Amino acid sequence: MIRKPVFAANWKMNHTSRDAKTFMRTFLMQYARRPDRTVVFFPPALTLAAVSDAIKERQDILLGVQNIHWELKGAFTGEQSAEMSREAGAAFVLVGHSERRHVFGEKDEETQKKCAAANRAGMTPVLCVGEKLEERERGETDAVVLRQLRAGTASLDPATIGSMIIAYEPVWAIGTGKTAQPEDASAVHAVIRRELAALAGERTKDTPILYGGSANAGNAAALINAANVGGLLVGGASLEPEAWATIVRT
Ligand code: PEP
Repeated sequence: MIRKPVFAANWKMNHTSRDAKTFMRTFLMQYARRPDRTVVFFPPALTLAAVSDAIKERQDILLGVQNIHWELKGAFTGEQSAEMSREAGAAFVLVGHSERRHVFGEKDEETQKKCAAANRAGMTPVLCVGEKLEERERGETDAVVLRQLRAGTASLDPATIGSMIIAYEPVWAIGTGKTAQPEDASAVHAVIRRELAALAGERTKDTPILYGGSANAGNAAALINAANVGGLLVGGASLEPEAWATIVRT
């Protein structure tokens, strides 16, 4: 079975509940249900309920959170567990997003525990991997991506690895307006695809590998049509309903 392309909106720390309602009114008018693609929103955790309410008639649109803690509960001020996120309606969670890694210092071992916690709660982790500019310039892209991929999946069984989503997001492309060339993204996606097969076999052949990094309405078609690109993870260009609807209709 060929999986449908995934279009994922990472709102980061943008959009209050009120903004989200306004956004969804416009977006839902511009994006009619399409059975050939999966659309996922990652709003801020406090905005999740508003988005969930706005899409209650649209089971084709799914929800995720941008982060979880790996413990079930306890003295972790400011954190949310996977179980809480699942209960609030999130089916997906971003793990190891570049801002978590490079602004908040998230380590590979933490991505491993978060992927395991997501799986335990019945959520699908979207494991984000990607190299920094200096790593790319030193020719270390594949090594960095493989290290992050192996670490994030280290405690998952092959069946779980087969059902997760990977996002290749070169750090130098996120929020910078610099996009990877489709063929460069393809080459890294192929490296990821080979490693997934080594880790979990044939069941990973259709695992969606998303590209993220300054994707927008102008470059979405070229990126989504590149070999091995199974969808897009979009930050800035997902904040305007018209732009996001254009991308999702690509
Ligand atoms: C992201 O935050 O995952 C992202 C890809 O951001 P942007 O599209 O703004 O580069």
